[in-house]
Amino acid sequence: MNTHSTPHPVTSPVILHIAVPAPLYRGFDYLANPAFALPPLGSRVSISFGRQQVIGVVIAHKTTSDVPRSKLKIIESVCDQHALLADDIFWLAQWAADYYAAPIGEVMNSVLPVLLRQGKAAIASTQTVWRSVGEVSAMTNILARAPKQAAVWRYLQQHPEGQRAEDLDLAFSQWRDAMRELQLKHCVLEEQLAHLNTIENPQRHVEADMPTLNSEQQAAVERILSNDSGVYLLDGVTGSGKTEVYLRVIEQMLAQKKQTLVLVPEIGLTPQLLARFTQRFHANIGVLHSGLNDQQRLNTWLAARDGVLDIIIGTRSAVFTPLANPGLIIVDEEHDASLKQQDGFRYHGRDLAVLRAHKLNIPIVLGSATPSLESLHNVQRDRYHSLHLTERAGNAQTPLITVIDTRAQRSHQALSPALQIAIQTHLQQGRQALLFLNRRGFAPVMMCTACDWKSDCLRCDAHMTLHQQQQRLHCHHCGSERAVPKQCPKCTAEIIPVGTGTERLEQQLAERFADFPIIRIDRDSVRRKGALEAQLNKANQNTAHILVGTQMLAKGHHFPNVTLVGILGIDQSLLSADFRGPEHAAQLITQVAGRAGRAEHAGEVLIETRLPQHPLLITLIQQGYSAFAQAALQERQAASWPPTTHVALLRAEATQAHKANEFLQQALQHLRALPDNALTLWGPAPAPMEKRAGRYRAQLLLQAQQRNHLQRVLKNLPEQLSQLPAAKSVRWSLDVDPVDLF
Ligand code: ADP
Ligand code: ZN
Ligand code: ZN
Repeated sequence: MNTHSTPHPVTSPVILHIAVPAPLYRGFDYLANPAFALPPLGSRVSISFGRQQVIGVVIAHKTTSDVPRSKLKIIESVCDQHALLADDIFWLAQWAADYYAAPIGEVMNSVLPVLLRQGKAAIASTQTVWRSVGEVSAMTNILARAPKQAAVWRYLQQHPEGQRAEDLDLAFSQWRDAMRELQLKHCVLEEQLAHLNTIENPQRHVEADMPTLNSEQQAAVERILSNDSGVYLLDGVTGSGKTEVYLRVIEQMLAQKKQTLVLVPEIGLTPQLLARFTQRFHANIGVLHSGLNDQQRLNTWLAARDGVLDIIIGTRSAVFTPLANPGLIIVDEEHDASLKQQDGFRYHGRDLAVLRAHKLNIPIVLGSATPSLESLHNVQRDRYHSLHLTERAGNAQTPLITVIDTRAQRSHQALSPALQIAIQTHLQQGRQALLFLNRRGFAPVMMCTACDWKSDCLRCDAHMTLHQQQQRLHCHHCGSERAVPKQCPKCTAEIIPVGTGTERLEQQLAERFADFPIIRIDRDSVRRKGALEAQLNKANQNTAHILVGTQMLAKGHHFPNVTLVGILGIDQSLLSADFRGPEHAAQLITQVAGRAGRAEHAGEVLIETRLPQHPLLITLIQQGYSAFAQAALQERQAASWPPTTHVALLRAEATQAHKANEFLQQALQHLRALPDNALTLWGPAPAPMEKRAGRYRAQLLLQAQQRNHLQRVLKNLPEQLSQLPAAKSVRWSLDVDPVDLF
């Protein structure tokens, strides 16, 4: 099916193959409506589907159908005269639907902004902007006797980019009457501009802030710009100046009037990255984040498509943003699991970005201090070019990492004496300490002092976490919560919190270091809009001396005065049963450690663990992440795990315990019966957390030595699975290249 080539004129009546917005794995045939011009591939049409009127996307023109022509319905209307989806995106969507065995309609939902899916016209909303006209000298006379008008005019003159009503409201309590007068006098111009969600930098201090690149950075920039295409893995320790490399390459793109698409794992967590882009460039920068309303999202999408935006920064779904003049794609923190969508259409933003760049014949840069084993494997196979930044930029030095053996320590005391002494020392030198604990709340479980009662979640195989400030128990897996019991519900004895979360750690630090202000950064403490930025500012301005937080603190932030990093509570991830567990643990440790000594002061990292002999930890600490990654890749190879093999995970869940297993047993029988099936099948087995949110979960792993063996089976699998007898009583999903097995 070669559906991505440009449409040829076709003789009417033509059959349109249409993706409908439903979790269905195939398109549906309709007859073109002779009342309209033939809708091109990638355009929207309105159709009746079942009893509903829906918006579909034309994915193929056909002359024949399996359905008799008399049974085919005619489309109701055509929404777009031209293809709404550019060729490369149309192609990418279809490719992704095949590769991820995803319903084509759901794929289209990820590709198109909501308003377009609803059939709205592809037009940006506009807003009124006022600009001043004329020179100061000429205006003095005209405005001499109207001080309010003069003030408004002068204000507009100071803002030549134009001002919106919101801006004027901030500057003046009343301005509309004056503006009307100014307009009558032809002293201001009123314009309607597309309502863009762009951030623009009014102060252009471009040259002043640019450091001189070191030789590795220079080489990386030259290499990326030397070719029209190619995948570059920018492998550089934290603080080695990767962002600076992105900025220099983007600068060249701007000079050539080409657009850059930047994918980041989570925008809210990286305000500093955004700030650096806006400070550097006087360019139109569009940001796609979850805080946008539907119209803003559409506006940004259109502005990117029409070439108005020079730089588009977004999370994984931004990979589908249309670009008028694509020049470069950057994926920052390419190892980050949040680049993979974890429900519905389970695609990997990084992998689709690589594919799109290849299709567009433009370079793509994957940046990380801790590259994924997949990308390192691709370097070994000469598919990706590797660019190394081995030294920290400027004067910053690589921190020293030490392990603290906490086997002798009591569990409610999170801070070992050695760590306390280190904190004391660094604080006394006027530096900041960062403590990382990837567990929010006060304590991960409450236990009875007399019997075996624990604060178990009724809906999950998990404990409920004590949140002491709220005096509630929360399940972090299903979201249920309840009041903290006063005593043991079973035997009325006293119950106590066991273990340590960030809330408790903060409390212990406050007791021990009473003179030093502390801030905590986790999902609970930064729930309010703008709270994260406020906390980060406190950290940066040195108003907080101790920073406590979860992995939110590990990502991309630059705290120049942090010289001590303490890493707590990592044992669980070191012991994880998931084949990616060690990789994720090593990435997290390395990323957190990288927060130490990012500026001129040397850093120190202390890791508390009850597993001081853990081989992974030893390799990582003694030889660094690259050595760890090579060892881990060899282990994966020996154990036949990705990236040396290819896997897909079939998950099923049901309210009755045996149903999920029953469905997977049927799936197993079906797969075994397939002719020339080269897959290895593991399971079915209960999921590592079997019960979650009241549902019992199980999984079956499909593993292939070669990618095409897996793809061959996946091609028809969704339809076959939906026909299994037990399919009706379970929820099931296929996850191709899963990032975790949970
Ligand atoms: P990364 O993205 O690898 O963490 P950054 O690009 O953020 O690294 O650089 C870390 C710090 O070093 C930043 O403050 C940046 O401005 C600075 N920096 C980057 N490159 C240089 C350079 N060549 N000379 C001096 N300082 C640099
Ligand atoms: Zn009890
Ligand atoms: Zn729960």
